Amino acid sequence: MVNEEPRVPELPEVETMRRGILPIVGSRIESAVRPPCSRRPILLTPRIDTFNRRLQGKKIVDIGRRGKRVMVEIEDSLTIVIEPRMTGLVLLSDPPTRDHLRLRIELSGGDNEQLLFWDRRGLGTVRLLSAKEVKSNIDDKLGTDALEITADELRKCLCKSIRAIKVALLDQSDVAGIGNIYAAEILFRSGVDPRTRCNRLARNQWRRITTEMHAVLNEAIFYEGSTLSDGTYRNAINGEGSFQAHHSVYDREGKPCRRCGEGKIRRIVQTQRSTFFCPVCQRKTGIHRSLLGSWRSTSWPEAIE
Ligand SMILES: [Zn+2]
Repeated sequence: MVNEEPRVPELPEVETMRRGILPIVGSRIESAVRPPCSRRPILLTPRIDTFNRRLQGKKIVDIGRRGKRVMVEIEDSLTIVIEPRMTGLVLLSDPPTRDHLRLRIELSGGDNEQLLFWDRRGLGTVRLLSAKEVKSNIDDKLGTDALEITADELRKCLCKSIRAIKVALLDQSDVAGIGNIYAAEILFRSGVDPRTRCNRLARNQWRRITTEMHAVLNEAIFYEGSTLSDGTYRNAINGEGSFQAHHSVYDREGKPCRRCGEGKIRRIVQTQRSTFFCPVCQRKTGIHRSLLGSWRSTSWPEAIE
């Protein structure tokens, strides 16, 4: 069942979390507390007492993002790496429930008194890392960020692969930040069949995929990400994202294509994940001929009524 599939916050959702907590830059950390929680505990490293000791009194100097992680940069080259995984949220206030609140970092010297990590399923992680650890544990393992990668870079790292393009786009070691929702939307707008093997894609298709990758992700950030029917994903003040209203193919199985009106959105399974696409707009041989004349490289107004 599609509805039971994990819906992981992807680049737009995590970037929205990052932007939402930017106001805490300049604040100092007073203490970190694990609130009483009857649920399975999240992975916190190091243990809370050490975590607290290393951070107490330190200033937050920036908020960054690596792929699907929020990076709270602290003075003395320390970083709190927050990985929401499936149901984790980074909040300044108003957690959806008290019971799933996993970590509260108390702050001083700014407008916000706390930074919260909330996680219904508890699969998220919070780690305190040094600059060296960030490099070896994260940077060395991640591909270029999906918002920054160029068409040439994307082509060079994937063009020899025999994996289907949809599967390859989910591999964080090639390009970082894309998950199941945005891979489907990017390939739809690129007019590329998600089953196409990477080594069969032409140079102009890599260009189109990269252009649409940037367009879809930026548009989704503008709408503060996608809050799906499970309602889990929220922004930093517990509000919903609204890009779900602009999905062209994701979770629209059997519905008419918003672009061509001719095709019905199909769902297939690739590496145990659902893939949605329009069999008319996305042909293995490239773009459907009827669309060539009206091809546009950026957002499609008709797809975002
Ligand atoms: Zn279509």
